[in-house]
Amino acid sequence: MTVLLAAEEVTKSFGSLRAVDGVSIEVRQGEVFGLAGPNGAGKSTLFNLLTGIPIRPDSGRVLFGGREVQHRSPRWLAKAGLKRTFQTEAVFESLTVRENVRIGSAYGGAGRTARWDRARCAEALEQVELGGDPDRPADGLSLIDRKRLMIACALVSRPSVLLLDEPAAGLDPADQDALIRLLTRIHATGTTMVIIEHVLSVLEALADRMAVLDSGRVIVTGAPADVLTDARVVEAYLGP
Ligand code: ADP
Ligand code: MG
Repeated sequence: MTVLLAAEEVTKSFGSLRAVDGVSIEVRQGEVFGLAGPNGAGKSTLFNLLTGIPIRPDSGRVLFGGREVQHRSPRWLAKAGLKRTFQTEAVFESLTVRENVRIGSAYGGAGRTARWDRARCAEALEQVELGGDPDRPADGLSLIDRKRLMIACALVSRPSVLLLDEPAAGLDPADQDALIRLLTRIHATGTTMVIIEHVLSVLEALADRMAVLDSGRVIVTGAPADVLTDARVVEAYLGP
């Protein structure tokens, strides 16, 4: 078992608020790792600390592929194989579908040509099953298709680890199922995933292991079936 991505005792405060408080997690190569927890628990802040955007930990280390990376830029991390999506469907509405995906590519080296871009964009759009004319504007896309586009923007760099911040937010149950099927297929191609999700059924369906954060701390880690029935988790969600 190889640990691909790890946080070791990572802490981040905003003023007097400890948003992430001594968090340690280990993401193993090939797994889907879930992160859950109530609003404000520190999930997105932890993602920011793992991906170098736009903050650094006050203390603790982030390891990717065994190397310390907490001081690395998002671009460096993307080139090294770590890509993320954001909680909002942050697509550029005034650009076309293809232009959005093209911008997502972290590869800027020799050999990147218009033809290379077309091929890589087509591959990423195929992976997320976003059909139709790639030269249409992104602003007409439905919510699930925006999510597909956002994921394509990350996949175009062929990441080894993909981090998704609440990908199911706002989707109805049918689209949630479509998303689960999509992420299952992407995972099957060998992509390790970390998924923050409020919709716990999504983590139940996808995650090999998961952690629950509450007030900046990991309260439970384990298999979803065990974690989601743990009394501490039930209390964190329902309150005392
Ligand atoms: P989650 O994603 O679990 O809902 P967040 O990581 O977004 O939680 O936020 C954790 C806590 O940190 C919240 O109380 C939030 O208001 C606070 N927070 C997050 N980012 C910042 C920031 N840049 N400045 C100040 N407070 C922040
Ligand atoms: Mg969040």
